[in-house]
Amino acid sequence: MRGGEEGWGAQWGTGEDKRDGGCVAARGGSGGARGGESRGAREWMARGAGGGARAARAGNGQDGRSGRRQGGKRRARGRKGGGQGSKSRRRAELHTEGDSLEDEPKHVAICAAAALLACINLGTVIGHVAARAAGNSWDLLASCGFVGLAGLVAYAFADFATGVYHWGVDNYGDRNTPVFGYQIDAFQGHHKSPWTITERGVFNNVHKACVPALPLLGLMAVCNSFIAPELMTFLNVFFVSVIMSQEIHKWAHMLHPPALVVALQDARVLLSRKVHGLHHNSPFEGNYCIVNGWCNQFLDRIGFFRKMELFFFKLNGAVPNTWLLEESLRQR
Ligand SMILES: [Zn+2]
Ligand SMILES: [Zn+2]
Repeated sequence: MRGGEEGWGAQWGTGEDKRDGGCVAARGGSGGARGGESRGAREWMARGAGGGARAARAGNGQDGRSGRRQGGKRRARGRKGGGQGSKSRRRAELHTEGDSLEDEPKHVAICAAAALLACINLGTVIGHVAARAAGNSWDLLASCGFVGLAGLVAYAFADFATGVYHWGVDNYGDRNTPVFGYQIDAFQGHHKSPWTITERGVFNNVHKACVPALPLLGLMAVCNSFIAPELMTFLNVFFVSVIMSQEIHKWAHMLHPPALVVALQDARVLLSRKVHGLHHNSPFEGNYCIVNGWCNQFLDRIGFFRKMELFFFKLNGAVPNTWLLEESLRQR
């Protein structure tokens, strides 16, 4: 099937965590012409830890063989005995040439630069709000309200933006596509060995999104005196949310994320395992948004991505991968 890289959740519903597994497993089972790796994953989810592990290992074998046939792929053993849960040891599979799981100094440097610029921009917002209020507590309250609203809208918009991007790289192109080939390979491969993402270092996972955001965050820092605090907040929150989306995505695949993350997932402030689990069923046709998942239900209900697919099909004849996996989606 499709080539590519890494990581979701055979972890879901392994029996170690029953919070969401049942719902995800219930979602499985529809669709006839579906990928072997998804069947393996659904079996994992539907069974307990023991039986599920066997099903996933069988799925892995299938994927691995097809992976070797495609060539150029390599595997790495998960660090620390599989990172997430030694009970269900899994192999982290790297499908993308030149990829690695470890944090490297350049990853840390790129992330640190982005964090520094975001902090400078945040400091600018605080300075502007304080200057605007000029000691008047009502003005201060009003300014904080507008800035907070701008941040909230940006957080929701970032969810939408990651959904559109995720849909694009899931459905069009391959590793040879100019500019986006690496990302396309990574996202499409994530469906084949979704657990790999849980083995990635934080900086390794996040730095790729920092690269395009860095010049924009830098431009904001340079032009800060010309940008209203509400707009500055919107842009800052948007870029930081998009940068963090892959780490949030990683948390949604982990069996045991940090306690604070679990609380935020349960409060739907961060993308939950349940919501993202719905994406990981072939033909991977919905639930693309990966910041907080707020937009997923609405976009899927109105058929947003089917409309986009139809638009591009009529424009240039491009057939999305979802249609190849599920012919009936073409009709919607
Ligand atoms: Zn995923
Ligand atoms: Zn996907």
